Amino acid sequence: MARYTGPSCRLCRREGMKLFLKGDRCYTEKCAIERRNYPPGQHSEIRGKFLEYGLRLREKQKVKRMYGMTERQFKRFFEMAERMKGIVGSNLLVLLERRLDNTVYRCGFASSRKEARQLVSHRHVLVNGRCVNIPSYLVNPGDVIEIKRKDLLPVKNAIESVVRRGTPQWLEVDRQNLKATVKALPTRDDITIPIKEQLIVEFYSR
Ligand code: SF4
Repeated sequence: MARYTGPSCRLCRREGMKLFLKGDRCYTEKCAIERRNYPPGQHSEIRGKFLEYGLRLREKQKVKRMYGMTERQFKRFFEMAERMKGIVGSNLLVLLERRLDNTVYRCGFASSRKEARQLVSHRHVLVNGRCVNIPSYLVNPGDVIEIKRKDLLPVKNAIESVVRRGTPQWLEVDRQNLKATVKALPTRDDITIPIKEQLIVEFYSR
């Protein structure tokens, strides 16, 4: 299935929470969740409560949309998580955090994951000195992520606004040189947005 190209805020309204898809705007009162926190569509107010299947589906959609993935890519990550040792739901979230586009976003070099994915696919990101243009590339401890061109305006703007988001503990960021080191693998506790990953596991195990 093709990647969703419609309005991002509509996705947040559908999930009833901020998915932080639009960079700076998400932290202002212009955010659609602040102004219109009800599902999109003409008769949204008469929709009933979700049954079990609906709850699991929504949780899966929420995470998939947050990381900007297609169903096929998300399912592939879920299968990878299943093959790993440990709790499948936590494994899935850790794998998603390790994606290169997400890492660039977490470093503050992009204001949204979508922008980070563009930086990666347009060959602006180096990993250990080599150009990597695969957004789903998984970073490992010790990897050094660097932005090749230091004069990119979107990167400069993102760096200025990253203070609002903060940097996770698993990354060490040198904002001056647009360089970051992966200190350790992210853990489940590094993901602070409320996600019930068990519901995603149940969704795919049905
Ligand atoms: Fe979601 Fe950001 Fe739009 Fe708010 S501004 S609804 S968080 S994409």
